[in-house]
Order: sequence, then structure tokens, then C-alpha cells
Amino acid sequence: MKVWAVVERGTRDRTGAHGPDLRRVSHEIAAKAASLGDATVLDPHGSGERSSTVALAAALTERAKTDRPDLILIGATPAGRDLGARLAARLGWAYASEITDLKVEAGALLMMRTMYAGKVRATVRAALPAVVSVRPSAFPLPPDAASPTTEPIQVDASAEKLGFQRFEPTASATGRVPLGEARVIVSGGRGLKGPENWKMVEELAGTLGAALGASRAVTDAGWRPNEEQVGQTGKTVSPDLYIALGISGAIQHLAGMTSSKVIVAVNKDPDADIFKVCDYGVVADLFEFLPAFTEEVKKVKGAG
Ligand SMILES: Cc1cc2nc3c(=O)[nH]c(=O)nc-3n(C[C@H](O)[C@H](O)[C@H](O)COP(=O)(O)OP(=O)(O)OC[C@H]3O[C@@H](n4cnc5c(N)ncnc54)[C@H](O)[C@@H]3O)c2cc1C
Repeated sequence: MKVWAVVERGTRDRTGAHGPDLRRVSHEIAAKAASLGDATVLDPHGSGERSSTVALAAALTERAKTDRPDLILIGATPAGRDLGARLAARLGWAYASEITDLKVEAGALLMMRTMYAGKVRATVRAALPAVVSVRPSAFPLPPDAASPTTEPIQVDASAEKLGFQRFEPTASATGRVPLGEARVIVSGGRGLKGPENWKMVEELAGTLGAALGASRAVTDAGWRPNEEQVGQTGKTVSPDLYIALGISGAIQHLAGMTSSKVIVAVNKDPDADIFKVCDYGVVADLFEFLPAFTEEVKKVKGAG
């Protein structure tokens, strides 16, 4: 079976240019492609140029017509989801988005994906050939996994070809691990009372090398940028460790984080719904607990 993995590189700076490192999900889909058969790892960002999914979908469609892969795997990042849908539509192939597991059975694909804000896990069958976007962390990487050998793909991203005149990245937080791929996330809710108290969250996140997350109450209030929102209308995350600080555990928030491997919740209300899904729950005032906890983490890290 011929499988393509279309990889993505992290953005290097606010201009949107691509950095040298493959995103973690790209490593994951490249390893999965190799385990499924004859794999080709295509890299549209090898030159460091920023690119548009419109142009990339056109370039991949042309190549797929001659190469005839059976399956195309793409990371379910914002750009990956956009690319996957465009590519499947251009090729007229089946498309499954944000799958969490996949196997090939009797010449068809059997895939797992969550639906209805995480309340249902569905098994979806699709005929080959197909395009599939894969959720980060769906296929865990072995610790000794080698970097894939990539093949550049040329993309004609000239403005005339794309038919638009300006292409500008929007403002985004810089210098932190992308939320969707972080192994550790420290997330804050309305219990933090205001944006001025986020330095406490940032301090713990910095100590743990974690990404920052937030509830929608927080992003709606403008305390934190929208890109940090976790949940049904925000990002879906599955880190090794998710720390929820002053978050009540509304169903829409849980939809984005219950597949985390270990969940720690701090809330002063012992009946808060977040305690129904957490592995470790702390009933405490976070303004007392958090500074003391961060100090302890620093000591343990320092001792290590
Ligand atoms: C269509 C739709 C989509 C939505 N999508 C999302 C989404 O994607 N993500 C999302 O998060 N929400 C989403 N929501 C909103 C969601 O329903 C909740 O309103 C939101 O998650 C609540 O955020 P919160 O937990 O920060 O605030 P609250 O529910 O107000 O909870 C604050 C918590 O902080 C605790 N607290 C207060 N003070 C302290 C203290 N000193 N120490 C410790 N704990 C304290 C309280 O006990 C409380 O449990 C959506 C809603 C709708 C209708």
C-alpha cells in the first residue's frame, strides 16, 4: 500500500515563515505511514517559505494523479485540517478528519474519531483511496524514533496564482510550545479572577516547560488570547499532563481535554464537575495553593 505523510514545520517567528523543526504530529504520521506500507514523506516547507493551503492542495493533487497513493496522512493542525479537506475535494476521495486511530481491513480504512463534542467515539469506515487528518498524539512516537527522510514538494504560491493580494499572519503568542502538541499544559479559568493573576500560571508553566491553556470564560473576557482556548469551540488537546486551575469543568471544556493522560484539578468547590474527570484533585484556594505548589516543583526540578 502506498502511503503519503504530508509534514509541517513549526512557525519560526511572527512573519509566519517556517522553522527548521518538524512538528511532533508530523513525526507521528511519518512513523505511522512507514508502518502501513510504502511511505513517502512530503515536505512543502523545506525551503522555509510560508505557504498557503490553496497552493499546496493544488501541487499535491497534481502529484497524486501520477503517484497514485492509496492513503494521504496529514496532521490535524489548523493548516492540516484546511489542507486535508481541500485535497480530498480536489481528488474526489474520501476524507476523515481528526481521527484518533486507524487500521486497514479488507482493503478499507477503519478509523476512530470522537463526535458530538467528545460524547461519542465513532468507528468510521472509508474506502481507499482516502485523505485523513490525524489528531496530535493519536499515534505515540517510540522514544528512539528516527527523524523521517523527507522529500520537498514545490508549491507555486505566487500571488497571481492564489488570487489574493495580502497574506499576513494574525498576532499570536510566541516562544511557547504549541498548545495542540504540548506534553504538559497548565490551563486557567475564571477562578483566577483576572488577567493580572496569570503570572502565577505562567510561572508554573515555565517551571514545567508547559504550554498555557484557558477556558472560554477567560478568552471571552479577553484575559487571554483565543488561541489558548481549550474545549468544544477551542483546541482539543491530549497531553501527558493537564493541570486545570480554577476551571469548573463545563461539558464544553471537558470536550477538549478529557483524553489527557493525567488530569490534575485545583478548585475551591469540592462539587466542581472537573473533579469527576481528574486523576488528582486538590480542593483549595488556588491563590494559596499555586505559589506553594510552584515552589515545590522548582525544588524537585532543582534536585533532579
Ligand atoms: C456553544 C458553547 C461552546 C462553548 N465552548 C467552550 C470551550 O470550547 N471551552 C470552554 O472552556 N468553555 C466553553 N463554553 C463555555 C462553558 O460552558 C463554560 O461557561 C466555561 O467553560 C466556564 O469557564 P470556567 O470554568 O473558567 O468558569 P466558571 O464556570 O465560572 O468556573 C470557575 C471555577 O473557579 C473556581 N474558583 C473560583 N475561585 C477560586 C479560587 N480562589 N481557587 C480555586 N478555585 C476557584 C470556582 O469554584 C469555579 O468552579 C462553551 C459554551 C457554549 C454554550
